[in-house]
Amino acid sequence: MRYAEVIVDLTAGDVNRTYTYLAPENLCVSPGDMVVVPFGKRTMEGFVVSMKDETELDESKIKPIARKRMAGVIMPELIDLAMWMKNKYNCYLADSLRLMIPSELRGERVREKELRVARLIASAEDALKAAAKAPKQRRVIELLTDGAKPVKYLSEMIPGANAAVKALSDKGIIDISSEREMRKPHIDDNGRSHEDPVLTVSQQAAADEMIDALDTGGRFLLHGVTGSGKTEVYIKLIREVLKRGQGAIVLVPEIALTPQMVGWFHARFGKSAAVIHSRLSAGERFDEWERIRSGDARVVIGARSAVFSPVENLGAIIIDEEHEGAYLSEKRPRYDAREVAWRRMNDRKGVLVLGSATPSIQSYMRVMPGVRSENKLALIELTQRANGKALPEAEIVDMRRELEMGNRGIFSGKLIQYLKDAIKQNQQAILFINRRGHSTFVSCRACGHVEKCDACDVALTYHQSDQRMHCHYCGKNVPVPAKCPECTSKFIKYFGAGTQRVEEEVKTLFPSVPVSRMDVDTTQGKDGHAKILEAFRKGETKILIGTQMIAKGLDFPNVTVVGVVAADTTLNLPDYRSAERTFQLITQVAGRAGRAQTPGRVVIQTYTPENYALKCAVKQDYRSFYHLEAMYRKHALYPPYTVISRLVISSKDENKPGETAVEIEKRILKALNEEKLTESVLFMKSAEAPIKKIRGETRWQVYVKMYARGEVGRVNEIMETIAQEGAQGVRIELEVNPQSMI
Ligand code: ADP
Ligand code: ZN
Ligand code: ZN
Repeated sequence: MRYAEVIVDLTAGDVNRTYTYLAPENLCVSPGDMVVVPFGKRTMEGFVVSMKDETELDESKIKPIARKRMAGVIMPELIDLAMWMKNKYNCYLADSLRLMIPSELRGERVREKELRVARLIASAEDALKAAAKAPKQRRVIELLTDGAKPVKYLSEMIPGANAAVKALSDKGIIDISSEREMRKPHIDDNGRSHEDPVLTVSQQAAADEMIDALDTGGRFLLHGVTGSGKTEVYIKLIREVLKRGQGAIVLVPEIALTPQMVGWFHARFGKSAAVIHSRLSAGERFDEWERIRSGDARVVIGARSAVFSPVENLGAIIIDEEHEGAYLSEKRPRYDAREVAWRRMNDRKGVLVLGSATPSIQSYMRVMPGVRSENKLALIELTQRANGKALPEAEIVDMRRELEMGNRGIFSGKLIQYLKDAIKQNQQAILFINRRGHSTFVSCRACGHVEKCDACDVALTYHQSDQRMHCHYCGKNVPVPAKCPECTSKFIKYFGAGTQRVEEEVKTLFPSVPVSRMDVDTTQGKDGHAKILEAFRKGETKILIGTQMIAKGLDFPNVTVVGVVAADTTLNLPDYRSAERTFQLITQVAGRAGRAQTPGRVVIQTYTPENYALKCAVKQDYRSFYHLEAMYRKHALYPPYTVISRLVISSKDENKPGETAVEIEKRILKALNEEKLTESVLFMKSAEAPIKKIRGETRWQVYVKMYARGEVGRVNEIMETIAQEGAQGVRIELEVNPQSMI
């Protein structure tokens, strides 16, 4: 007897283990196959993880596998990875496996676009004899004598061919098989060169170091200033990987997977590249996955979940812009693509590359002396731009001085002057503001009352477009009150500037200059994003105003001025990472300037010019920033020195979350005492969440801070168990080092 261990595709209750099924003799199953199995009263889909000849279970109770859905769906290597994830992230096995296959494959949905092909299996002579009295069948046979044809084609050529085809197939004269028809995602190669450029000396040195590690395994942090040409280094490495008959995965943040970027990779790697991005239809996604699985595509470019691509003989994983929060999944399973990649390459002794102009504190810490070798990253630096151009000069403008000098506008005199110069010389400018809408909040001058969303407990943002106040959490909007609801004063005013307000000011200052704005409000449509960028690229618009969206990866040669309108909006976020985020943002935004002939100018406007993140950012001095920031984290006991985990408890009921939080805190404390884990925990507290209410739900949290070197895994497991058990009338979610603590 042959038995199969199967993971049932179910994520509820006690299913986080494998089940044993009998493999019927006439069914050839092996690890990685997707099968259909009886489960309780139902049938379920599942994945075979291993086969064995014996079982300790009562054989009469073991049910047979009902049928096979598809062979080789999950590579053995990925099954191991799913097992590892189960322990690391306390998730269901099925949750991890679902990340590894296209959603199309699950639940018997229509998947492949099938092409039915007819082929002659008898000799032409015999066939024609057998169909002597059927002219339509004879026509079909004639068409098939020089090779197989799609049935669709036959019925186009011969009216009513379908019946003839069926008759011939019933007589065993022709064979009908299904072949896959690939849906080719639209490719825009944007006229980019298909040839690799000659690398600069430092690019070549960086690539060589990585290539040397292809035999023994290696982990690198590629710290390259903006415009240093990191992408070409990756491409060089990938070429070598392909030469060795291996494959590679490149992860980029979803936001960077622009049509240009996609087209560019296709232009370089042709059909051997599979690009997975959110604009693909489910069917296209399935086909790309299939091309990877079959080995037709050996280079995969995609966002976070592309780390699970079924690339055989994987030689390298590259994670570009590794500092991006997007690599951390906010949904269950809450995996970190960097950790998954690390694990995957460790097992294979391949090369892992994390690349960034502004590495995360967490990654940079791993290049420091004293790090244990299993955690170490080797640092490779690119300190010059690939085109030899200087990094833009950046300057801080103290907005308090501007105010003292009587400037009440949102632009400093200097920024206005630079914009004027740029316009005069027919150059372009980018203005960055980390806030959409018109104003940051609406408040009463007399009593200080701030207008808030009644469902979310956050300040509302005024939008000029419809002259209403919008909630950026739930989307609700209301008119601006004529009088203060608290004190009836008429002096209700808008404070702080958002993208709309910046646009308004630019239009007032430069009425004849074409301007465009890029934020969530203007990029709603399918190609809203692309259209705005295209117009800017062509020079139809001269000034581009936008949020984070414009900070990354854009390469516009004619941009000579970049203005950060209010650096303080990021700096003052209530988050221990606000300095890191500000440094990253300013470095990235500044990197947009002066990429070609004319040197760029960058103006950072702020009310706190003495801040270390700003000071280091204008000098593009990452190392100094790293040391100051690491010191701050260490003293203030923040990650990566500690791990912050929290359970967020929410409910429409106002009281339940609070009551549950207090109870949960007691339960955790009890478990910590019982398991002698109290040493690992620095601090624990149940309290209202920083945003007390979202979409009408009251929110509480149980916040636990642990030493990174402590029993973090076990404490998280305790918390996850509590979250999964749930409690009456509330939702409970575990977050580990969440990207934003709202
Ligand atoms: P980074 O990602 O490091 O900011 P990019 O990879 O975007 O930098 O490269 C910046 C620019 O330099 C791009 O326009 C790229 O085509 C160009 N570039 C990179 N390497 C070379 C090279 N060796 N020769 C010529 N141009 C290069
Ligand atoms: Zn008031
Ligand atoms: Zn709201």
